[in-house]
Amino acid sequence: MTCHQESPVTDNSTTVQQDWALAHTGRHPGHRGFKLTAETYWRTVPADGNPYAEIPPPANGEQH
Ligand SMILES: [Zn+2]
Repeated sequence: MTCHQESPVTDNSTTVQQDWALAHTGRHPGHRGFKLTAETYWRTVPADGNPYAEIPPPANGEQH
């Protein structure tokens, strides 16, 4: 069964989602299974000698 409701999105915290799931089950006792969706970031680094190695990465850690 899927109801398509979603918890708020947070950054590096699962407390909000856990509280949301418990409250959701409280309101809908038959809804007891949840899917966790997470994002994982990778960083690439040009090899020595690659002309792009001279370009510094963004200072704010911006993701593209
Ligand atoms: Zn539900």
